[in-house]
Parts: sequence; structure tokens; C-alpha cells
Amino acid sequence: MDFIKHTCLLSILLFAVGCGNKKPSVSKDAASRFNFEAVYDYWEVVDSLKNSQYPSDVLWDKLLNHQGYKVIESANGTTPEMIKERLSICFYPENKKTKDSIFRYGDVFQKSMYSHLIETDRSREALKKHINWMRGQEVYEAMIDKTNEFLPEKYKNYKTPIINIILFGENAHANQSGVCMDLLLSYFIDKIDKGGTLGHELHHYVLDSYKTNSAKERNKTLDKTKELVQKIVYQSQKEGIADLIDKERGYLNPKVKTTSPEYLTFIRSEFANGKMRISQLNKKLVTISQNKNKTYTWDFVSEALPFYGHVVGFYMAKTINENGYHKELINTINRPQCFFELYNKVVQEKKLDAPLFDEVVIQLINESSSQENTAFCYK
Ligand SMILES: [Zn+2]
Repeated sequence: MDFIKHTCLLSILLFAVGCGNKKPSVSKDAASRFNFEAVYDYWEVVDSLKNSQYPSDVLWDKLLNHQGYKVIESANGTTPEMIKERLSICFYPENKKTKDSIFRYGDVFQKSMYSHLIETDRSREALKKHINWMRGQEVYEAMIDKTNEFLPEKYKNYKTPIINIILFGENAHANQSGVCMDLLLSYFIDKIDKGGTLGHELHHYVLDSYKTNSAKERNKTLDKTKELVQKIVYQSQKEGIADLIDKERGYLNPKVKTTSPEYLTFIRSEFANGKMRISQLNKKLVTISQNKNKTYTWDFVSEALPFYGHVVGFYMAKTINENGYHKELINTINRPQCFFELYNKVVQEKKLDAPLFDEVVIQLINESSSQENTAFCYK
């Protein structure tokens, strides 16, 4: 999801699948598709902190060397040191004052994160049961089905990775190194939208894995403004399409409750502002197109792109998807520059009450594309 900061776990828990003889047991193969090992190491660290014993380097390393934490670092920039700090603030009695002041003066992100962490400890028994539920309810299969709905045929040949279920905050992350999701977030959301959030993250994993090395190389030679335009386009398309997988049945669904109603209200109110943010982004991009020699950074556009592109991207992807252009949306997945043009085409053709991007913006996007094909996508 990558909401926070501008911005998705298995011990070999042997469990009895019911007592009745008729229930099938979970095969070894199915059990290995999620990795929950880090969850138990997390609770060991939490216990140590709560007992005023700062964990040894060995104990921290045991936790933070799990693949899920590596995915967080490479996908989101949250380092092991940052995880250590948040757990220490949350559970180490010596840091009580710091924690109290965060609850008093912190922003909605900080407060929601610490409420969530406190709950990861308080809800241990429910979370252990949830691990069994995830293993037994074909969550993994639901995730794959949901992702595949939004991938072109040629992308469906990917090898689904082991999914790292960990505990770290109300979030989930993915890039080509893997997928991770917080167990408590899964507890809140998967019973209502099974495999949705994971499907969103798996979609990122697949897209990132298919990004060619040559495309990454070309990016290095671009000027800063072109790089910025590409990033805006890539983030909006990537998050927008992935949000079609999970947002309406998940975070935006009133049935979903988490530890922080305040944070949920904030997210929902931001997502309701899609139209306004598109107009705002259009103005910013027009300005960039008129000053091509000037260097712009993400700060110039960040207000128009809450949650790193989710709000604008979701509005655009939903508009395209709901108006008969699902195939075109999916088949141009490897050409993000077509996303804005397709959105404009749909709004004009269906005469929708939705803001358009100026022609100079579409031109700017095409000129900034790293791909050799800079022709318009639909003309
Ligand atoms: Zn995402």
C-alpha cells in the first residue's frame, strides 16, 4: 500500500485442523506459501522489551533478518534501525514518556502506528488463530486470482513468491524482492476482503519483476524534470490499477475497522477528493510543461498526489475500468505513459463529469517517457 510517509509473516506452527476426521489437513505445500516465522520472533522481542531487558543484538538480528523486513527496507526505505526504534518506543518501559508524547502531540500516522503496535501484543491469541485461518481459507489462492484479473495474459506466467507475514505497522509492501504484510492488518481486512490487500501487493511484485533492466538503465540518463514526470505517471498508474484490486472492498469499505478510526477517516476523506486532486495535478503539470528548462522536484507536486499517487491513480483507473476500457487499461500496463491519455479518451468519449488533463500535459508525458515509442497511444 505504501501509504505512510508519502507515501504490505510463519513459524512452522503445527496446528491441528479441527478434530473431525472429515476436514482435510493442510498440505505441507499450502503451509509453505506464507511465512509466519517472524511473528514469533517479534513477540519474543516484545516480551524482552516489556520486561525491561533491551534485546541482545542476536535477538534483534533474528527478527530483522527475516525476508519481510528486508522487503520493507528495499520497497519503502524503512530500515531495521527504524523498526527497532518504534518497537523500543512502544514497549520499553524506559521510553514511556516518548510514547505518551507521541499520543499527545503526534500526527495521525504516528498515532495510528503506535496504536497498531500496542494491539499486536494485546491481540496475540486472536492473531495465532488468524494464522490458522489464513492457512486454511485459501487466502493465498484468492490473492492470486485477484491479482490476475488486472494483468495481461503475457504477465501471468510469474512464479508466485512465498508471502512474508510479519508485524511492523498497519501496512503491506512489495517490490521485485518479495511481498510482505502485517499480520494484524490481515486480521482486520482479510476476513472482509480475502486476499485483496495481498493481491494489491502481488500486483506490484509482478509489475516490478517485469520491469526490464534496459528501462532502468535508460532512466539514469534522463534529466530531473523528465524523471519527475515519469515518476508521477508510474506511481499513479501502478497504485491506481492495484487499488482497483483492494480499495473498495477493503480500506474504503465501512465494514473494515482497524485500531485507528481517525486514520481510516483520514484515508477515506482523501480518497473522496480524486476529482479535485486531478485538477490540481493538471495545473502543476501545465506549469512544468511551460518551464521545461526549470528543475522541479516531488515537493512541487506532492500536495496533488496524496499517498504517493493512490488518490489520483485510483480515480483515473476506476473511471477507465468502469467505462468499458478494462482491456486497454491492462494491455498498456507496461506503458504507463498511456494511462493519462486513456483516461482523457474515456472522459471525452463518455462525456463524463470529470476533469481532463490538458493536451500539453499529455505531450509532456509522452516526451518524458523512457520508452522509444513516444507516439500517442490512442490516436
Ligand atoms: Zn500499492
